[in-house]
Amino acid sequence: MYKKNEIIELQITDLGSEGEGIGKIDGFPFFVKGALPGDTIRASVMKAKKNMAFARMQEILTPSSDRIEAPCPVFGRCGGCQLMHLSYPAQLRYKEQKVKNALQRIGGVAEEELNAVMEPIIGMTPNPQSAVPLRYRNKTQVPFGKDRDGNTIYGFYAGRTHAVIPCMDCLLGVEENKDILENVRQWMEENHVQPYDETTGKGLLRHVLIRKGFHTGQIMTCLVINGKKLPKKEALCERLAQIPGMHSISISVNEENTNVIMGDNYETIWGEDRICDEICRLGAESITYGISPLSFYQVNPVQTEKLYTTALEYAGLTGNETVWDLYCGIGTISLFLAKSAKQVYGVEIVPQAIADAKENAKQNGITNAQFFVGAAEEVLPAYYRERRTDSSCHPDVIVVDPPRKGCDIACLETMVQMQPQRIVYVSCDPATLARDIKYLREQGYKLQRVRACDMFPNSFHVETAALLVR
Ligand code: SAH
Repeated sequence: MYKKNEIIELQITDLGSEGEGIGKIDGFPFFVKGALPGDTIRASVMKAKKNMAFARMQEILTPSSDRIEAPCPVFGRCGGCQLMHLSYPAQLRYKEQKVKNALQRIGGVAEEELNAVMEPIIGMTPNPQSAVPLRYRNKTQVPFGKDRDGNTIYGFYAGRTHAVIPCMDCLLGVEENKDILENVRQWMEENHVQPYDETTGKGLLRHVLIRKGFHTGQIMTCLVINGKKLPKKEALCERLAQIPGMHSISISVNEENTNVIMGDNYETIWGEDRICDEICRLGAESITYGISPLSFYQVNPVQTEKLYTTALEYAGLTGNETVWDLYCGIGTISLFLAKSAKQVYGVEIVPQAIADAKENAKQNGITNAQFFVGAAEEVLPAYYRERRTDSSCHPDVIVVDPPRKGCDIACLETMVQMQPQRIVYVSCDPATLARDIKYLREQGYKLQRVRACDMFPNSFHVETAALLVR
């Protein structure tokens, strides 16, 4: 058994599911944050268990040939980018492998079968001056707090704690963020507005949400506050309105002691309620989306186009199909598919998102999309119970794009009962994707195509599209 603080030398051979380096001594695995396959390192044992141990990196003795200098000054302290020190081609190899591993180990798909259906990962083109893709995120949510001297700061939460570490400019976000956040901070100091303190529950400003439509340039700023009202809001709006692209300023009240960032509602205090963005269907016209502060919208617009184009291709629409889009958010995928289908039904649990979806259908002149508010695992079974004898309601294609926990079993059961010819599964978590694919394969669906897509460069996250055919 290894002891705490024991010094070991380790060759890293693998990356774990959260981007941690893994190396073995006599078959016993050590997990080391920040270490990369190909590194030889010296590390100290932090915590040893029966069949694995955590160790802290002390020195890199020989670096991996895939190791690069992470361009961000707070890399390693901020938990956001776990893989910014890994060359981009190696990041893509890692993510593709992660999807493969999950489908084999959890999904029970045999390696040969998988190799026959898996297509190469869709990567992002790095920015001209950097080795890895940067500034790809259209959304940022920044916590405010105080430093030891009582100055108002903003940045990110350190590691697993909720201490705010200052960071003026996250390299994944847009250039405008810095200007907006700095103006908010100055307005706070001038007007004695206090940042929220989680331990005491006092203070007003919790987070600032910023979103930018990459195609339209429109920017939204939403202040999440621990209180019903914002003091001196004219002064704030005056400052923010001067920032080019500013289109909407709002507040969202969140007075709960919770990790959830946004409140349940929002109120516009300047400009429009929504910003617009477009997503292009490759080779076709683009669709315009209105996005309000509380709605989900994909954070990497460049990769979203590629992912949705893949999903559209997998759906194999000819114009005669009835399609369900479960977990539809503001109807992004639904509207993307509607022009190639007979009828689309979208289901989403957040009412504001459905309001956006309906408005978006209208704005784009799409009349063959209908939306339902509610949990997919409730709406779909209820609909099916009522209409199962009506053949005109038979779905040809069901698209799902659930959050990380995947689809509820009640949802999967109904999907199978409805017998769509194709199921297109878009997933942000390979483990739950694999779990759900296992079920669908047991129920008579065949995995026909799978493709990973790098929506979140420099992080360990990976998005996947899969096609299952009855
Ligand atoms: N397809 C959309 C949204 C995907 S994110 C897009 O690409 O933009 C997942 C969405 O599922 C979120 O909008 C979330 O609010 C919604 N959601 C979460 N749990 C749900 C459930 N049980 N039933 C329906 N929707 C749910």
